[in-house]
Amino acid sequence: MSRRKFIKNTVLGSIATSGFGITVKNPKNKELAVPRIISTWKHGVEANKISWQKLKNGEGGLTAVEYGVRDSENNPDERSVGYGGLPDREGKVTLDACIMNSNNDCGSVSFLENIKNPISVARLVMEKTPHVMISGKGAYDFAIKNGFKRENLLTEQSKKDWEDWLKKSEHKPVINIENHDTISMLLIDSDRNLFGACTTSGAAWKMHGRVGDSPIIGAGLFLDNDVGAAAATGLGEAVIRTAGSAMVVECMRNGMSPLDACKEVVHRISKLHRNRPEWEYLQVGFIALSKSGDYAGYSLKKGFNFALTDDQNDSILIDAKYRI
Ligand code: ASP
Repeated sequence: MSRRKFIKNTVLGSIATSGFGITVKNPKNKELAVPRIISTWKHGVEANKISWQKLKNGEGGLTAVEYGVRDSENNPDERSVGYGGLPDREGKVTLDACIMNSNNDCGSVSFLENIKNPISVARLVMEKTPHVMISGKGAYDFAIKNGFKRENLLTEQSKKDWEDWLKKSEHKPVINIENHDTISMLLIDSDRNLFGACTTSGAAWKMHGRVGDSPIIGAGLFLDNDVGAAAATGLGEAVIRTAGSAMVVECMRNGMSPLDACKEVVHRISKLHRNRPEWEYLQVGFIALSKSGDYAGYSLKKGFNFALTDDQNDSILIDAKYRI
């Protein structure tokens, strides 16, 4: 029997109903609830609740992940996503986002300015164009043509923080601070289909034009509906160098649990960066969700957390395990 068929058969082997979701026993007899949603950082708690409600209302997984992460994009107090995100070194807020469904359809925007909800533009790229990724002015024009409003995304607070930063102009990311980092969300629905979304204003004080891992399918986000899904947060350059999320999914395909898969890729990143100057401030974290409903979060350094929502957990925050 092929490995894919084996996974499908064992996963679908014993299904029992439990409230809104269904519960499946994996080969180790562990009860795995679906639907299930995980997302990065504390802002994931609220985002998950919105997504969960969307599912309960009968909306699809794609709409659920889109509207969950939009909550962070819209929140001016989230300083690393959408409106209120910290700007680049020229004081411009530039956004990256991508979205993916269970058919491997995906859409992405990068280096997008003045549009509050890049995740919804990414979804339109997926649904209305023959392309996967649109960038910069092209992405902005596409958004405006499709009814998005031009908005100033630099809040007074972000402007002030940028002016303070200008005094020293030191490019040195600060890791694990509250209100920090990308929101990446992974969702498995009750039909066991996977969905993912990822959106960010990227690294604070980046060079103008810099694009991180978050809008890159395979780096910031990847899923294979036969296997599982993964998403990243942290220093985008390190995640791109290692095709991080795609590798986590590949490790799961080769039989690893979500936790072992995340550990393996963090280990590779660690090995590759130990002698690089960014090692001092390097942080990367992954979340992963398997087809069986198993999940994990794991980071290089202490401080990463992720939100979990399912039939038994009403959006809880979990401290991820870490390497060092
Ligand atoms: N991964 C994002 C980037 O490098 C930022 C983050 O998650 O902190 O743009």
